[in-house]
Amino acid sequence: MSDTHTADIAVIGAGIIGVACALQLARQGHRVVVIDPQAPGMGASYGNAGHLATEQVFPIADVSILKRLPAMLMDPMGPLRLDWKYLPRALPWFVRLLLNLRPASYRRTVAGIRALNEASLGAWQRLLHSIEQPQLLREDGSLLVFERAESRAAIEALQQRMQQQNVTVDLWSGDAVRQAAPQLSDDIQGALFFPGTGHFIDPFQVVGELAKAAKVQGVQFIKQRVVDGRVEDDGVSLMTDHSVVAARQVLIACGAHSARLTAALTGKKVPLDTERGYHLMLPQEQDRLPFAVTSLERKFIMTPMAGGLRLAGTVEFAGLDRPANMQRAWQLHRLSQGLFRHDLSAQGATPWMGFRPSLPDSLPIIDRVCDGKVLLAFGHQHLGLTQAAVTAEMVVQLLKPEQLNLGLPTRGAYRLDRF
Ligand SMILES: Cc1cc2nc3c(=O)[nH]c(=O)nc-3n(C[C@H](O)[C@H](O)[C@H](O)COP(=O)(O)OP(=O)(O)OC[C@H]3O[C@@H](n4cnc5c(N)ncnc54)[C@H](O)[C@@H]3O)c2cc1C
Repeated sequence: MSDTHTADIAVIGAGIIGVACALQLARQGHRVVVIDPQAPGMGASYGNAGHLATEQVFPIADVSILKRLPAMLMDPMGPLRLDWKYLPRALPWFVRLLLNLRPASYRRTVAGIRALNEASLGAWQRLLHSIEQPQLLREDGSLLVFERAESRAAIEALQQRMQQQNVTVDLWSGDAVRQAAPQLSDDIQGALFFPGTGHFIDPFQVVGELAKAAKVQGVQFIKQRVVDGRVEDDGVSLMTDHSVVAARQVLIACGAHSARLTAALTGKKVPLDTERGYHLMLPQEQDRLPFAVTSLERKFIMTPMAGGLRLAGTVEFAGLDRPANMQRAWQLHRLSQGLFRHDLSAQGATPWMGFRPSLPDSLPIIDRVCDGKVLLAFGHQHLGLTQAAVTAEMVVQLLKPEQLNLGLPTRGAYRLDRF
């Protein structure tokens, strides 16, 4: 250990959550350091689908999925894959997930996701305007298309369930879809359109611009890995692979890697696992879509970005250590065939895998524990980009509980001690 760094608040993790929080905390006058062995935004925040998915108020697992589960798990290239060797480690997480499907827990989850999502667009508008980068977010809505006539009933039922949750949603005919997105195939029967959503044109650039603004605000970035930490009388001590960081408070925001440090600092074991996801970036495919389009039957999303069209999705349970199976990323291209009048070009395409940080009740932990010395912001699963800006505002509010902001979700649903 050669160096000692000091700070008011040490943020562990330079993903979208850590960097957004660091910027907002620095704006409150705190001396902030961000510790991460990687450059800002190189984790899950690098390659997500860029969808501001405020419409996704339901967790991805529900009772209806249970019936289809065996068939889904038998298909190695299907949208859901379990590495059977990983099953013993994942089993307690799955049990909790199942328990969470009971009606009262499920309702709590939906209310918790919805409260964050409803505050997300406004928080992002404020954040992007504050760094003078509003163009990174396109507020053009998004589409969920269906191709089979027999899917209509499911789409209409989903529309109804979403409306009950106050999600603004319109049912479009196939012709309306083709008018808005003329490159899509004639096979598309219709779609749900979500006007209150949008997409980011480059999720990695979003983190980069926030990191730039944070540096201007005085935030220091330390390129090291935190290996251990402890709470002390006057603050916290973090041991990295090269130094010690002494701070008054720590914010754990290292996504899917947050469980070990949470246990070290708070003594609490959190059931955090990862739902690995993949993308395939198609640099030749500019201007194919006006907004993000998800396929109901094929179960993946396509988002138009500055660097081309990004195909993304799939959930893989295989933990943090097993190598990526990039066949799953290439599979996204095969899945896209037939969705457009002319198939997409995969020339120059690049595959990617990332770790969604997921808790079994599909809600993040956003909390303040250990007499306020430890702050927590992780576990945003499929919605970390969507919920990053509102999470950062909530973290600031955790430090100033006396300044009650009635516009933000309260931390009740997101507390550590629910586990
Ligand atoms: C395929 C895919 C598509 C997705 N699509 C969407 C979408 O369209 N919309 C949406 O809202 N969300 C989406 N998500 C989810 C979203 O990407 C994540 O929820 C979000 O990026 C999590 O951000 P984070 O900052 O918590 O974690 P990360 O971005 O993973 O950042 C964690 C950081 O912590 C660092 N770290 C880890 N361990 C340590 C340590 N010991 N010391 C220091 N640093 C450490 C890592 O290096 C990393 O930089 C998608 C995810 C995937 C995989």
